Amino acid sequence: MTHVDRREFLTAGLALAGLAVDSGANAGAFQTVEPIIDIHQHVGYAGRADDGLIAHQRAMGVTTTILLPAGRAANRPSTHAGGANGLQAQCLGNEACFQIVKSHPKAYLSGANEVPDLDEAVPEIEKYLTRGAVLIGEQKFGVECDSPAMQKLYQLAQAHRVPVLMHWQVDMYNYGFERFDKMLAKYPQVNFIGHAQTWWANIDRNHTLKAGLYPKGPVTAGGLTDRYLSDYPNMFGDLSAGSGLNALTRDEDFTRDFLTRHQNKLLYGSDCTDVEGAGAKCQGAQTIAALRRLAGSKSIERKLLHDNARRLFRL
Ligand SMILES: [Zn+2]
Ligand SMILES: [Zn+2]
Repeated sequence: MTHVDRREFLTAGLALAGLAVDSGANAGAFQTVEPIIDIHQHVGYAGRADDGLIAHQRAMGVTTTILLPAGRAANRPSTHAGGANGLQAQCLGNEACFQIVKSHPKAYLSGANEVPDLDEAVPEIEKYLTRGAVLIGEQKFGVECDSPAMQKLYQLAQAHRVPVLMHWQVDMYNYGFERFDKMLAKYPQVNFIGHAQTWWANIDRNHTLKAGLYPKGPVTAGGLTDRYLSDYPNMFGDLSAGSGLNALTRDEDFTRDFLTRHQNKLLYGSDCTDVEGAGAKCQGAQTIAALRRLAGSKSIERKLLHDNARRLFRL
């Protein structure tokens, strides 16, 4: 066998075994393909075109993406008089997400969403759950987390066995984080996924509102978020967005321990608006790098980037 023949032979064999061969600068070095599930992206995000979204996900190395729709445009207190339409970032709704899933069925899944205190909320969300949506969210509205409207969504999630993903932001979206344990206890069959600033600020037992939405510096374990994750099997954490990356990088000693303790409860998401999908402009790529650097073992890293989402969404 010549050198070239032998290389082709190896390449074919590895392809059969599900391994990729790098033919670039590291030609001859073999790399295992490691699938990544991104549980948090949006269509039309800050005006990004669909081909930009798809190229972004590919550049990050993401193999499965969950698209989170906005609710319909509405002018009422729960949308801050329209300010929260499009999830406050021009994100498109159920139908736009559903169309991408239809044309890329292997790589994309979607959520189902609606403004929770509209009469149409339950039927609209149910329509897309019936069409295959894998969660309810992103719920990002100015409502009490234990309001009758939200509890209807929790009951719907229970009936359809899908998680609910909530954006927690004090005085802005999903009020009452400090009493959410009542909902976790009342709906033990429903898996809840926590996301955004107030969720991540509260990993720190000493967090106060004065520290702002993106607190820096050392973390004392035992914050509300840390306790919800420890005490409730149905509470999960979404690592996406600037808030997730800030929480991972502000105190790396704390993070290593946090990722180990909650290794079965945390899920990778990107939630970034760039088109690059790599480098300094892409927060999602930086979050992947941070998880690879800070996870205590390869097995924990794989849970965070893939296995936990696969299990939670029954993929
Ligand atoms: Zn989002
Ligand atoms: Zn990005």
